[in-house]
Amino acid sequence: MILDRFRLDGQAALVTGGDRGLGQAIAIALAEAGADVAVAAHTGDLAATLAAIAATGRRGVALRADLADVRHAGDLVAAASRALGAVDILVNNAGIIRRAPAIEVTAIDWNAVIDVNLNAVWALSQAAAQQMAVRGHGKIINIASLLSFQGGIRVPAYTAAKHAVAGLTKALANELAGRGINVNAIAPGYMATDNTQALRADPERSRQIMERIPAGRWGQPDDLAGAAVFLASPASDYVHGHLLVVDGGWMAR
Ligand code: NAP
Repeated sequence: MILDRFRLDGQAALVTGGDRGLGQAIAIALAEAGADVAVAAHTGDLAATLAAIAATGRRGVALRADLADVRHAGDLVAAASRALGAVDILVNNAGIIRRAPAIEVTAIDWNAVIDVNLNAVWALSQAAAQQMAVRGHGKIINIASLLSFQGGIRVPAYTAAKHAVAGLTKALANELAGRGINVNAIAPGYMATDNTQALRADPERSRQIMERIPAGRWGQPDDLAGAAVFLASPASDYVHGHLLVVDGGWMAR
Protein backbone atom coordinates (compact mmCIF):
# COMPACT_ATOMS: atom_id res chain seq x y z
CA MET A 1 0.00 0.00 0.00
CA ILE A 2 1.35 3.39 -0.96
CA LEU A 3 0.98 5.04 2.46
CA ASP A 4 3.06 2.23 3.98
CA ARG A 5 5.93 3.34 1.75
CA PHE A 6 6.01 6.67 3.61
CA ARG A 7 6.53 4.93 6.97
CA LEU A 8 9.88 5.05 8.72
CA ASP A 9 9.38 2.23 11.21
CA GLY A 10 12.67 0.68 12.31
CA GLN A 11 14.72 3.56 10.85
CA ALA A 12 17.19 5.67 12.80
CA ALA A 13 17.66 9.33 11.92
CA LEU A 14 20.17 12.01 12.82
CA VAL A 15 18.94 15.60 12.51
CA THR A 16 21.38 18.44 13.08
CA GLY A 17 20.04 21.70 14.49
CA GLY A 18 17.11 19.83 16.00
CA ASP A 19 16.42 22.05 18.99
CA ARG A 20 14.45 24.74 17.16
CA GLY A 21 13.17 26.00 13.85
CA LEU A 22 13.10 23.77 10.80
CA GLY A 23 15.24 21.01 12.32
CA GLN A 24 12.90 20.62 15.25
CA ALA A 25 9.87 20.26 12.98
CA ILE A 26 11.70 17.76 10.77
CA ALA A 27 12.88 15.67 13.73
CA ILE A 28 9.35 15.47 15.12
CA ALA A 29 7.91 14.62 11.69
CA LEU A 30 10.38 11.76 11.23
CA ALA A 31 9.41 10.39 14.65
CA GLU A 32 5.70 10.71 13.82
CA ALA A 33 6.43 8.62 10.71
CA GLY A 34 8.06 5.94 12.87
CA ALA A 35 11.77 6.71 13.11
CA ASP A 36 13.93 6.91 16.20
CA VAL A 37 15.70 10.24 16.08
CA ALA A 38 19.02 11.55 17.37
CA VAL A 39 18.73 15.32 17.52
CA ALA A 40 21.86 17.42 17.66
CA ALA A 41 22.33 21.01 18.70
CA HIS A 42 25.28 23.21 19.53
CA THR A 43 24.11 25.07 22.63
CA GLY A 44 20.32 25.01 22.31
CA ASP A 45 17.91 23.25 24.65
CA LEU A 46 16.75 19.96 23.14
CA ALA A 47 14.14 19.18 25.82
CA ALA A 48 11.09 20.31 23.82
CA THR A 49 12.10 18.27 20.78
CA LEU A 50 12.78 15.20 22.90
CA ALA A 51 9.39 15.56 24.63
CA ALA A 52 7.62 15.78 21.28
CA ILE A 53 9.47 12.71 19.99
CA ALA A 54 8.64 10.80 23.16
CA ALA A 55 4.96 11.69 22.67
CA THR A 56 5.05 9.82 19.35
CA GLY A 57 6.27 6.68 21.13
CA ARG A 58 9.60 6.75 19.34
CA ARG A 59 13.05 7.06 20.87
CA GLY A 60 14.78 10.43 20.94
CA VAL A 61 18.43 11.00 21.81
CA ALA A 62 20.06 14.36 22.49
CA LEU A 63 23.54 14.97 21.10
CA ARG A 64 25.81 18.00 21.14
CA ALA A 65 28.35 19.15 18.59
CA ASP A 66 29.80 22.42 17.43
CA LEU A 67 29.65 21.96 13.68
CA ALA A 68 31.75 25.06 13.12
CA ASP A 69 34.59 22.57 13.61
CA VAL A 70 34.18 19.87 10.99
CA ARG A 71 36.33 17.50 13.01
CA HIS A 72 33.25 16.98 15.19
CA ALA A 73 31.19 15.62 12.31
CA GLY A 74 32.53 12.07 12.40
CA ASP A 75 32.12 11.93 16.16
CA LEU A 76 28.51 13.06 15.86
CA VAL A 77 27.62 10.37 13.33
CA ALA A 78 29.40 7.78 15.47
CA ALA A 79 27.52 8.91 18.58
CA ALA A 80 24.17 8.68 16.80
CA SER A 81 25.05 5.21 15.52
CA ARG A 82 26.04 4.06 19.00
CA ALA A 83 22.84 5.43 20.50
CA LEU A 84 20.40 4.14 17.88
CA GLY A 85 22.28 1.27 16.26
CA ALA A 86 22.73 3.02 12.88
CA VAL A 87 22.11 6.20 10.97
CA ASP A 88 19.70 5.33 8.18
CA ILE A 89 18.62 8.94 7.63
CA LEU A 90 20.84 12.02 7.93
CA VAL A 91 19.26 15.47 7.79
CA ASN A 92 21.89 18.18 7.38
CA ASN A 93 19.83 21.04 8.74
CA ALA A 94 22.08 23.08 11.07
CA GLY A 95 22.93 26.40 9.52
CA ILE A 96 23.73 30.02 10.25
CA ILE A 97 23.35 33.30 8.40
CA ARG A 98 25.40 36.50 8.65
CA ARG A 99 23.97 39.60 6.97
CA ALA A 100 26.19 42.44 5.79
CA PRO A 101 26.93 44.32 2.57
CA ALA A 102 29.40 42.28 0.50
CA ILE A 103 32.15 44.91 0.78
CA GLU A 104 31.94 44.76 4.59
CA VAL A 105 31.80 40.99 5.19
CA THR A 106 34.63 39.92 7.51
CA ALA A 107 36.76 36.84 6.98
CA ILE A 108 35.51 35.55 10.32
CA ASP A 109 31.88 35.71 9.25
CA TRP A 110 32.62 34.32 5.79
CA ASN A 111 34.47 31.32 7.26
CA ALA A 112 31.88 30.71 9.98
CA VAL A 113 29.08 30.42 7.42
CA ILE A 114 31.10 28.23 5.05
CA ASP A 115 32.19 25.97 7.92
CA VAL A 116 28.70 25.31 9.33
CA ASN A 117 26.62 25.50 6.14
CA LEU A 118 28.97 23.68 3.77
CA ASN A 119 32.01 22.04 5.31
CA ALA A 120 29.99 20.33 8.06
CA VAL A 121 27.41 19.15 5.51
CA TRP A 122 30.21 17.54 3.51
CA ALA A 123 31.88 15.93 6.54
CA LEU A 124 28.63 14.63 8.03
CA SER A 125 27.50 13.28 4.67
CA GLN A 126 30.80 11.51 4.09
CA ALA A 127 30.82 9.97 7.57
CA ALA A 128 27.21 8.81 7.27
CA ALA A 129 27.65 7.54 3.71
CA GLN A 130 30.59 5.40 4.76
CA GLN A 131 28.29 3.50 7.13
CA MET A 132 25.28 3.55 4.80
CA ALA A 133 27.33 2.10 1.94
CA VAL A 134 28.24 -0.89 4.08
CA ARG A 135 24.56 -1.53 4.84
CA GLY A 136 23.48 -0.77 1.26
CA HIS A 137 20.84 1.79 2.11
CA GLY A 138 20.50 5.30 3.43
CA LYS A 139 18.87 8.69 2.96
CA ILE A 140 20.76 11.97 3.12
CA ILE A 141 18.66 15.13 3.08
CA ASN A 142 20.40 18.47 2.88
CA ILE A 143 18.58 21.65 3.78
CA ALA A 144 19.37 23.98 0.90
CA SER A 145 17.65 27.32 0.25
CA LEU A 146 16.13 29.55 -2.38
CA LEU A 147 19.66 30.95 -2.30
CA SER A 148 20.78 27.66 -3.83
CA PHE A 149 19.23 29.18 -7.00
CA GLN A 150 19.27 32.94 -6.46
CA GLY A 151 21.83 35.47 -5.26
CA GLY A 152 20.00 37.05 -2.37
CA ILE A 153 20.95 40.37 -0.79
CA ARG A 154 23.70 40.99 1.80
CA VAL A 155 24.32 37.27 2.37
CA PRO A 156 27.17 36.33 -0.02
CA ALA A 157 28.68 33.57 2.14
CA TYR A 158 25.27 32.04 2.78
CA THR A 159 24.46 32.08 -0.94
CA ALA A 160 27.83 30.60 -1.84
CA ALA A 161 27.39 27.83 0.72
CA LYS A 162 23.81 27.03 -0.32
CA HIS A 163 24.74 26.94 -4.03
CA ALA A 164 27.53 24.56 -3.06
CA VAL A 165 25.10 22.41 -1.07
CA ALA A 166 23.01 22.07 -4.22
CA GLY A 167 26.05 20.95 -6.19
CA LEU A 168 27.19 18.62 -3.43
CA THR A 169 23.73 17.06 -3.30
CA LYS A 170 23.95 16.18 -6.99
CA ALA A 171 27.59 15.08 -6.84
CA LEU A 172 26.95 12.73 -3.91
CA ALA A 173 23.73 11.45 -5.48
CA ASN A 174 25.63 10.45 -8.61
CA GLU A 175 28.16 8.43 -6.65
CA LEU A 176 25.91 6.99 -4.00
CA ALA A 177 22.72 6.10 -5.88
CA GLY A 178 24.30 2.84 -6.95
CA ARG A 179 25.08 2.04 -3.31
CA GLY A 180 21.42 2.27 -2.29
CA ILE A 181 21.80 5.77 -0.84
CA ASN A 182 19.48 8.64 -1.84
CA VAL A 183 20.95 12.12 -1.55
CA ASN A 184 18.45 14.93 -2.01
CA ALA A 185 17.77 18.40 -0.67
CA ILE A 186 14.87 20.49 0.48
CA ALA A 187 14.99 24.15 -0.52
CA PRO A 188 12.74 26.00 1.92
CA GLY A 189 11.31 29.37 1.05
CA TYR A 190 10.96 32.16 3.57
CA MET A 191 10.15 30.39 6.82
CA ALA A 192 9.29 31.98 10.15
CA THR A 193 12.26 30.97 12.33
CA ASP A 194 15.10 32.69 14.21
CA ASN A 195 17.06 32.62 10.92
CA THR A 196 14.66 35.12 9.32
CA GLN A 197 13.79 37.18 12.42
CA ALA A 198 15.73 40.20 11.12
CA LEU A 199 13.86 40.12 7.79
CA ARG A 200 10.46 39.87 9.44
CA ALA A 201 11.38 42.74 11.77
CA ASP A 202 12.21 44.98 8.79
CA PRO A 203 8.83 46.26 7.48
CA GLU A 204 10.18 47.12 4.02
CA ARG A 205 11.94 43.77 3.43
CA SER A 206 9.06 41.87 4.97
CA ARG A 207 6.57 43.60 2.62
CA GLN A 208 8.78 42.94 -0.44
CA ILE A 209 9.09 39.27 0.46
CA MET A 210 5.40 38.78 1.18
CA GLU A 211 4.45 40.40 -2.13
CA ARG A 212 6.32 37.69 -4.02
CA ILE A 213 4.92 34.66 -2.18
CA PRO A 214 1.86 33.39 -4.07
CA ALA A 215 0.69 31.49 -0.98
CA GLY A 216 0.42 34.87 0.76
CA ARG A 217 2.19 33.91 3.98
CA TRP A 218 5.56 33.03 5.44
CA GLY A 219 6.24 29.31 5.72
CA GLN A 220 5.98 27.59 9.07
CA PRO A 221 8.53 24.91 10.11
CA ASP A 222 5.80 22.26 9.90
CA ASP A 223 5.40 23.05 6.19
CA LEU A 224 8.56 20.98 5.60
CA ALA A 225 7.27 17.88 7.38
CA GLY A 226 5.78 16.20 4.31
CA ALA A 227 8.83 16.81 2.12
CA ALA A 228 11.18 15.53 4.83
CA VAL A 229 9.23 12.33 5.44
CA PHE A 230 8.95 11.73 1.69
CA LEU A 231 12.68 12.09 1.09
CA ALA A 232 13.48 9.94 4.15
CA SER A 233 11.11 7.15 3.20
CA PRO A 234 11.00 4.29 0.67
CA ALA A 235 8.44 6.37 -1.28
CA SER A 236 11.40 8.37 -2.66
CA ASP A 237 13.69 5.42 -3.43
CA TYR A 238 14.01 6.44 -7.12
CA VAL A 239 14.54 10.15 -6.35
CA HIS A 240 18.22 11.14 -6.51
CA GLY A 241 19.96 14.51 -6.57
CA HIS A 242 16.72 16.48 -6.43
CA LEU A 243 16.19 19.87 -4.79
CA LEU A 244 12.60 19.89 -3.57
CA VAL A 245 11.46 23.49 -3.28
CA VAL A 246 8.93 24.18 -0.51
CA ASP A 247 8.39 27.90 -0.85
CA GLY A 248 4.74 28.87 -1.14
CA GLY A 249 5.32 29.38 -4.87
CA TRP A 250 8.20 31.92 -4.67
CA MET A 251 10.28 30.25 -7.40
CA ALA A 252 7.30 30.07 -9.72
CA ARG A 253 7.09 33.88 -9.89
P1 NAP B 1 17.49 28.56 13.19
O1 NAP B 1 16.14 28.60 13.79
O2 NAP B 1 18.39 29.76 13.28
O3 NAP B 1 18.26 27.27 13.76
C1 NAP B 1 19.59 27.01 13.40
C2 NAP B 1 19.97 25.66 13.92
O4 NAP B 1 21.34 25.39 13.53
C3 NAP B 1 19.91 25.57 15.44
O5 NAP B 1 19.40 24.33 15.79
C4 NAP B 1 21.38 25.68 15.83
O6 NAP B 1 21.71 25.00 17.02
C5 NAP B 1 22.07 25.00 14.68
N1 NAP B 1 23.44 25.45 14.60
C6 NAP B 1 23.88 26.70 14.31
N2 NAP B 1 25.22 26.76 14.43
C7 NAP B 1 25.64 25.53 14.81
C8 NAP B 1 26.90 24.98 15.13
N3 NAP B 1 28.02 25.69 15.09
N4 NAP B 1 26.96 23.68 15.49
C9 NAP B 1 25.83 22.93 15.56
N5 NAP B 1 24.59 23.39 15.29
C10 NAP B 1 24.51 24.69 14.92
O7 NAP B 1 17.44 28.25 11.64
P2 NAP B 1 16.32 27.59 10.71
O8 NAP B 1 15.58 28.66 10.04
O9 NAP B 1 15.60 26.52 11.43
O10 NAP B 1 17.28 26.97 9.60
C11 NAP B 1 17.59 25.61 9.52
C12 NAP B 1 18.22 25.35 8.17
O11 NAP B 1 17.32 25.76 7.15
C13 NAP B 1 19.52 26.13 7.91
O12 NAP B 1 20.40 25.35 7.16
C14 NAP B 1 19.04 27.32 7.10
O13 NAP B 1 20.05 27.85 6.30
C15 NAP B 1 17.98 26.65 6.27
N6 NAP B 1 16.98 27.55 5.69
C16 NAP B 1 16.18 28.31 6.46
C17 NAP B 1 15.24 29.14 5.86
C18 NAP B 1 14.30 30.02 6.64
O14 NAP B 1 13.57 30.81 6.02
N7 NAP B 1 14.25 29.94 7.96
C19 NAP B 1 15.13 29.17 4.48
C20 NAP B 1 15.96 28.37 3.72
C21 NAP B 1 16.88 27.55 4.34
P3 NAP B 1 21.79 25.86 18.43
O15 NAP B 1 20.36 26.26 18.75
O16 NAP B 1 22.36 24.89 19.39
O17 NAP B 1 22.66 27.05 18.13
